[in-house]
Amino acid sequence: MPELAYLNGKILPISETYIPIEDRGYQFGDAVYEFIASYNGKMFCMKEHLDRLQHSMAGLFFPELDKNFIERAVFELFEKAKIARAGIYIQISRGVAPRDHAWAKNMKVQIIMTIKEVKELSSKLREEGIDIITVPDERWLNCDIKTVQILPNAMAKQKAKNKGAFDAIFISKDGIVREGTSSNFFMVKDNKLITPPLSKNILPGVTRRVVLDLADDTGIETQEKLFSKTELFSADEAFLTGTITEVLGIKTIDKRKIGTGKPGKITQKLYKALREKAE
Ligand code: PMP
Repeated sequence: MPELAYLNGKILPISETYIPIEDRGYQFGDAVYEFIASYNGKMFCMKEHLDRLQHSMAGLFFPELDKNFIERAVFELFEKAKIARAGIYIQISRGVAPRDHAWAKNMKVQIIMTIKEVKELSSKLREEGIDIITVPDERWLNCDIKTVQILPNAMAKQKAKNKGAFDAIFISKDGIVREGTSSNFFMVKDNKLITPPLSKNILPGVTRRVVLDLADDTGIETQEKLFSKTELFSADEAFLTGTITEVLGIKTIDKRKIGTGKPGKITQKLYKALREKAE
């Protein structure tokens, strides 16, 4: 089960793959990315991830790239690595050019990918739930674009770790709940599943959409609406969603117990439904 990298059409061991130092992704964070997971040798929600990749590329005015071309490249890497439960990281930068804030004409995008085995979260974490903290949202105003400029997210996650928590969620200046550092946020109140609506303030999570659809299918009422940090603490349940996170129950927020302090019934039901769908 080799861990491999793809660099502009070539497949190599990750340790042998290098990018030029004047790649704009490296110097300016001028790059977009996606992360796709497979279950039992099958990619999950590939189309949705590639659609979002195109949305991100368009958001940064990258030249259009044939989606079938990227799809074929992903499959080539996937078939070569033969990892049944794989995580494929795809990063596309605007290209390589002498350093200048404005970009050169006719730049050629650089496509890199890596494939590795997914490290499942521990069953203890899934059963007991996680502790999270709230942090001010200090990110830019286009969070719907999945760029590699995720330093505020990395710093928030580190802050959570330093405080002994698992993750952090971003709260806007006016007290509105946004999302996690690499996940979307959901709460349950009076049996209703509530999550912030799509906007430029959050990433349109692929798992978020799947979970909303699964809730609809199983008769759980859903609502996409803004809610405040104060409202969080009266939630009956809360969880994060993401490609690796899946549906991950929250036991405390800023050390305050949510619901019973354990992943609730709706959280567990949706986690199970997601795994069944993906597998
Ligand atoms: N929000 C942010 C900021 C993220 O980085 C991610 C992970 N890509 C998500 C939400 C969840 O997205 P998805 O369900 O597509 O993995």
